[in-house]
Amino acid sequence: MLPVRLAVIPGDGVGPEVTAEVLRVLRVVERRSQVPFDIVEFPWGTDHYLRTGHVAPPDFLEVLRGFDAILLGAMGDPRVPDHIPVGLVLQIRRQFDLYVNLRPIRLVPGVPTPLAHRPTIDILFVRENTEGEYAQSGGRLYTGSKDEIAVHTAVFTARGIERVAVYAFERARRRRRLVTSVSKANALPHTYGLWDEVVKRVASRYPDVTFETVLVDAMAYHMVRQPDRFDVVVASNLFGDILTDLGAALQGGLGLAASANLNPDGPYPAMFEPVHGSAPDIAGRGIANPVGAIWSAALALEYLAHRGRLPGGDRLAEVVVQAITDVLGVGPHTPDLGGSASTSDVGRAITERVTELMGL
Ligand code: ATP
Repeated sequence: MLPVRLAVIPGDGVGPEVTAEVLRVLRVVERRSQVPFDIVEFPWGTDHYLRTGHVAPPDFLEVLRGFDAILLGAMGDPRVPDHIPVGLVLQIRRQFDLYVNLRPIRLVPGVPTPLAHRPTIDILFVRENTEGEYAQSGGRLYTGSKDEIAVHTAVFTARGIERVAVYAFERARRRRRLVTSVSKANALPHTYGLWDEVVKRVASRYPDVTFETVLVDAMAYHMVRQPDRFDVVVASNLFGDILTDLGAALQGGLGLAASANLNPDGPYPAMFEPVHGSAPDIAGRGIANPVGAIWSAALALEYLAHRGRLPGGDRLAEVVVQAITDVLGVGPHTPDLGGSASTSDVGRAITERVTELMGL
């Protein structure tokens, strides 16, 4: 079988630090994989921008198109406005039509959570990633005058809602068979009225999956009070963005949160990235938590299995997540989790555990 082609963009700030640990883990995983990994690193990001005037070469989308998956570290640097490096991520999401933003939120033993009752938390967030409130439709009039007006229009399409809902129900079938759809149709009856109708139609095709709709404000409340009642949550771009940050806090912090941007049947590579940004306040100190980035790579292995590019990839992903869980249970921990270990201490510990679990 042809090698799995992975494009790696370490990016800015802590991106290269956590990506180095991802590569350490992947090199071990590759030894148990039936297919070799062809990993190509691209030094794109703010340094590239300051040198050349571009975050990445103008043909970067063409370059990435030939890969099976993209692993991204982080983009963002205090030396330039955020929209410049982050624009690269948005272009990949849009041009490759990566309409699902997938974010697992799981509380692992050994990790502190702000919730005193320490419930079980294992939620799969499926956030719509291409439209809704982030569709960039709007403008400003009479700029700078006291009559200035700003209009921003949310764009919801039946097709966009349907495909993300189908993805959520399909995932629920492989989990605990509950889908919660997040809405606000009481206050936003046009956009979320369509959202509710379309998701309900999709739900009727999955009689084996329990379905509920919860208003976004109630959802924030329940995620704190009873996070254990949720399995798969499907949400619009805006609501998914906000609620998954709440989820990241519940699971122990941004350093642990993983994400995938994907189009399950599309022709383009999916992109996997930790939820955190470039964390300039701790960059260069070797103390960033690499777990979110490594967990994102596990999502990539699972995706590659689904695409038929990596036989046994789901099993490899399970082993990586198990190794993360085991290491979080007994340490070492980086400072964000109250420990004093370095990024590479944690990366090495996870790599060693993967090696053991794979019997290498
Ligand atoms: P962005 O706009 O790119 O999201 P940001 O500064 O708002 O940037 P992050 O870069 O994610 O957001 O950082 C938010 C906080 O979380 C910072 O205090 C940072 O140090 C911390 N943080 C982020 N990632 C990690 C990590 N991997 N390990 C430890 N702490 C982290």
